[in-house]
Amino acid sequence: MSENIKASEVSEVLRMQLEGIDTSLQFDEVGTVLQVSDGVVRIYGLRNAEANELLEFDNGIKAVVMNLEEDNVGAVLLGPTDQIKEGYIVKRTGRIASINVGEGMLGRVINPLGEPLDGKGDIAGERFEMPLERKAPGVIFRQPVNQPLQTGLKAVDAMIPIGRGQRELIIGDRQTGKTSIAIDTIINQRSNFEAGDPVYCIYVAIGQKGSTVATIVNTLKEKGALDYTIVVSATASDPAALQYFAPFAGAAIGEYFRDSGRHALVVYDDLSKQAVAYREVSLILKRPSGREAYPGDIFYLHSRLLERSAKIINQQEVASQMNDLPESMKGKVKGGGSLTALPIIETQAGDVAAYIPTNVISITDGQIFLDTDLFNQGNRPAINVGISVSRVGGNAQIKAMKKVAGTLKIDQAQFRELEAFTKFGGDMDPVTALTINKGQKNTRLLVQPQYTPMPVEQQIAILYCGTHGLLKSVKLDKVHEFEKNFLLDLQNNHQEDVLDVLKKGIINDEVSAIIEKVAESIAKVYSK
Ligand code: ATP
Ligand code: MG
Repeated sequence: MSENIKASEVSEVLRMQLEGIDTSLQFDEVGTVLQVSDGVVRIYGLRNAEANELLEFDNGIKAVVMNLEEDNVGAVLLGPTDQIKEGYIVKRTGRIASINVGEGMLGRVINPLGEPLDGKGDIAGERFEMPLERKAPGVIFRQPVNQPLQTGLKAVDAMIPIGRGQRELIIGDRQTGKTSIAIDTIINQRSNFEAGDPVYCIYVAIGQKGSTVATIVNTLKEKGALDYTIVVSATASDPAALQYFAPFAGAAIGEYFRDSGRHALVVYDDLSKQAVAYREVSLILKRPSGREAYPGDIFYLHSRLLERSAKIINQQEVASQMNDLPESMKGKVKGGGSLTALPIIETQAGDVAAYIPTNVISITDGQIFLDTDLFNQGNRPAINVGISVSRVGGNAQIKAMKKVAGTLKIDQAQFRELEAFTKFGGDMDPVTALTINKGQKNTRLLVQPQYTPMPVEQQIAILYCGTHGLLKSVKLDKVHEFEKNFLLDLQNNHQEDVLDVLKKGIINDEVSAIIEKVAESIAKVYSK
């Protein structure tokens, strides 16, 4: 078809030719491809098609209806563009785009349509059809965030605590450790899995390289995290539509666990790339573009995705009235489940005020901001404490942690300011010197290598040492050795009277006394 003939004119010609023949039934359910380019098809016919409906071509390739226009339907292809030609026949399926979810998906790598990508054969077991797009639970179906989701990272659990049902953004430039925070959080859920109270994890890789995804899958496998994790992948070479739908597939899988009364964590890595994919299909569909050429509804796209994370009310009767409940879940709903989201956004040169970053910052309940300079100085995870925040997680933090680390965030921010001044040299008064000393030791304590999540009771014990200045005499380069031996001592000699008590969220004078005694004796070793 020549470039300068509009789709509408062609459909008009077709209609005139077909006039007189009763085609109404046929054209309601079946359509013909008028135009195909860059993952988008224009279809004549399909007069009954609905928005978001799944379409199928004779060769098995699927598409999703995006634009319902007067004389044609615009749909995005979920398969390769070069396998669809003008004149191809396409049928309605009568189904809204959805994914079949089941327990058999655990440990698997799938695409946003639920098809396996790991070569391990079909997904086993019963599956439930969950729509990709679904209305988020209304206010009456929710309860406040009050249960912690431990990341195992000292810096996060102590200062930017995350609760189940929360949406916490991980934001930073490229190569600042964004993915690592999410992966460590998934690995840390191993203990819940072993304790028989799993937090199911869904890692959604959007627009990444296939090799990067493979490395992540390997890491999860090595760390024993695949048992309770599902990886959804739409790589950079997949059609833009698949990349755009991938987070929705992740949310749909998470909702299956959430609505059946269990806990789930979904990581969207990353939504910047999803936004670019959505911009691409929108521009090809000729939807009007706005700021930075993104379509005007990009904010709505991200907000309706992230609103689906929630902690569901504990009352089953209420929970089972939830809005837009898929047919397959009717009668299976249990209250008390949760879906926590960790969306990731990549910034350019630390610019958090760009369009997509500001959007997602305003939708989420807080952000973990990663800083290139801190990363290069070796402070990893490279969290910029000053502008990182968790707006709801505080209520979910366990009491002992709250008590011990309550002032850590402010202390660290103050230390950073003071440190900048003292760089000019000169003598310090003793109080300032002490603050600096403590700040430096705490900064060291918050450094944590990858793949070494720490149980919360150990975090509390070691951070107690930091916030109470028990490392005052310990040499800066010996902080990690101190930490290692201190925790070893507690594990060997004080499992019951310290660690088990802290685990329950309790910290009392007896526990503090033991911690101080152990810390004192170990500090002596590392003071020289
Ligand atoms: P990208 O922008 O490419 O997605 P990213 O921000 O997701 O990058 P990561 O891939 O998580 O960053 O990490 C970047 C590099 O930093 C990796 O090589 C990783 O091994 C290293 N790294 C991340 N966290 C830590 C840490 N806590 N300690 C040491 N190295 C780390
Ligand atoms: Mg990454």
